[in-house]
Amino acid sequence: MCRLYIYAALLLSPALAAAAPVPQADLPLTASVPGGVAIVCVGRAPGPAPQVVFEGQRVLVSRVGDAWQAVVGLPLALKPGEHDLAVLEGEKAERTVRFEVGAHDYETEHLTLANRRQVDPEPDDLKRIAREHERLVRAFSTFSDFEPEDLVFDLPSAGRVSGGFGLRRFFNNEPRLPHSGLDIAAPEGTPITAPAAGRVLETGDFFFNGLTVILDHGRGVVTMYNHLSRIDVAKGERVARGERIGAVGKTGRVTGPHLHWSVSLNNARVDPALFLSREVRAQGSRALAPASLGGAPAADREPVRCGD
Ligand SMILES: [Zn+2]
Repeated sequence: MCRLYIYAALLLSPALAAAAPVPQADLPLTASVPGGVAIVCVGRAPGPAPQVVFEGQRVLVSRVGDAWQAVVGLPLALKPGEHDLAVLEGEKAERTVRFEVGAHDYETEHLTLANRRQVDPEPDDLKRIAREHERLVRAFSTFSDFEPEDLVFDLPSAGRVSGGFGLRRFFNNEPRLPHSGLDIAAPEGTPITAPAAGRVLETGDFFFNGLTVILDHGRGVVTMYNHLSRIDVAKGERVARGERIGAVGKTGRVTGPHLHWSVSLNNARVDPALFLSREVRAQGSRALAPASLGGAPAADREPVRCGD
């Protein structure tokens, strides 16, 4: 409501449009580090939204006041330094917009698993894991035409945040891929709800992830829910914000019942805490201060402006 009012005011007053800070409550927090989200101005509105590509993947472009902002997911494996977005406007030739990615040292975590096969899978498991990996990458690479209804999410389950994003993990002292989501510990059967409106992109039983639901929120914004005890939705179904999609369990590679929640933008898994409202982060544990912000206390959303 408030936003509509501000947009109306901008339309009525060109002088105000030039000076007023742009409301920003509808975008995630920015953290231009691997595993974070960069918000990069890619053009002036009105006019059609430019198409933006980063590392071969289409990128979400959102209008904020008088600017088009690319909301870029930065993979955990991305090298700090300068990176380029390819920007296409209608028939116009491609141009490049450069942005800076800083470094961030994520914490280390050691976990012990009784099931050796979950640490060193057998040859048949490896084949299954490879097939499932392809299926997951296909889901995360989806770029649907519909716009995300909201980019500020609810927590998908009640519970204690037991594992932050980006942790450099060792299973039984062997290094494995860093933690690509947020863990919420809760008793088996605790409801899991959609943190925002979307469409069910995938469901299945995966070797590491256990019973899994993947939601498409539009334009490359994809979320994943792992280790479920049950799945309450079917592929292709639409879900409303707050609608139940499954329940917490301990299927797949786990040390106990919890929800693993991943958020992906342009096929890059990013810190889900960046998408939570300040109120939710303020109530949560230290793990809800985005790890990609150095685990610092919840920062305010900085208005993002287009430089001239
Ligand atoms: Zn996890």
